[in-house]
Amino acid sequence: EDRIVSMDEQHSDDWQYSLRPRKLGEYIGQEKVKANLSIFIQAALSRGEALDHVLLYGPPGLGKTTLAGIIANELGVNFRQTSGPAIERSGDLAALLTNLQEHDVLFIDEIHRLSHSVEEVLYSAMEDFALDIIIGKGPSARSIRLDIAPFTLIGATTKAGALAAPLRDRFGVISRLEYYTPDALVHIIKRAAEILDIAIEDEGALEIARRSRGTPRVANRLLKRVRDVAQIEGSGVITNAIADKALRMLEVDEAGLDHTDRRMLRTMIEKFAGGPVGLDTLAAAISEARDTIEDVYEPYLIQLGFINRTPRGRVVTEAGYRHLGIPYPEK
Ligand code: ADP
Repeated sequence: EDRIVSMDEQHSDDWQYSLRPRKLGEYIGQEKVKANLSIFIQAALSRGEALDHVLLYGPPGLGKTTLAGIIANELGVNFRQTSGPAIERSGDLAALLTNLQEHDVLFIDEIHRLSHSVEEVLYSAMEDFALDIIIGKGPSARSIRLDIAPFTLIGATTKAGALAAPLRDRFGVISRLEYYTPDALVHIIKRAAEILDIAIEDEGALEIARRSRGTPRVANRLLKRVRDVAQIEGSGVITNAIADKALRMLEVDEAGLDHTDRRMLRTMIEKFAGGPVGLDTLAAAISEARDTIEDVYEPYLIQLGFINRTPRGRVVTEAGYRHLGIPYPEK
């Protein structure tokens, strides 16, 4: 699959690991989140305690995993990484938890996808640093309580709303990551270009930044693709013109929309008169997974003001029509 945006690029994009900042000071943007975390980290360190559990939420590729790694690094503890779907049984979670050292960070990506029974185990672990384990079966079964080292859970999710209230309530810090400004993305792109030894002009970086849908992961991917074009069709330097040419080839338009974004908008307009249309109906009409639409495509289109969510479904706005060059029907 050759897509600019997708749900789980993380695992295929190994080269991206080298681009991950390791310190809070190298993590660009998200100023409010950083300022808060920096205080909480310093406070935890000076008290000699584990940092409160942290929940990070926001669309994919905004830097949740990166930030979690940085928090562990700033705390000077181990970083253990897993994901909701990877923890199948409560025993899997128990094994992870009992292996933690004091004040370690356990990062659970897609924490909204934990099964109910695993979630139950997590509650007492988060609250009391203890595990309630059932030993044996039938009438002789008994429950024992096992202490574990005080640790910090960092959960990441694309939708905070999908989290069960009792789980959400156990996080002391809840931070929402926002789409990045073009300015912040220019910084991220220039930093990545330096690490990857790519020559890029300011205007070239700005062009990529503007069309990266506010998302560092997308910016880094586009940078690599644009570099290829610069090498084959230009002097090797990423200029504004080369960036524009490459992004056109990739079908990324001036607003950063890709082929699927535009297909979704067009389908809403042509098949559903601009909406309102329900998520499942839309998913079927464009043959995309509901979750992908909800987590990846829709949030950015909403951010741009091209679609709105209403109680009756999604509607295309006047700006959305204008973007596709289709006249807005007076209703
Ligand atoms: P998420 O976990 O939210 O899906 P990641 O943490 O995997 O996102 O980030 C995707 C990529 O974007 C990382 O490889 C990292 O290089 C880059 N990145 C994310 N946030 C930043 C940032 N604030 N500054 C610099 N690079 C970033």
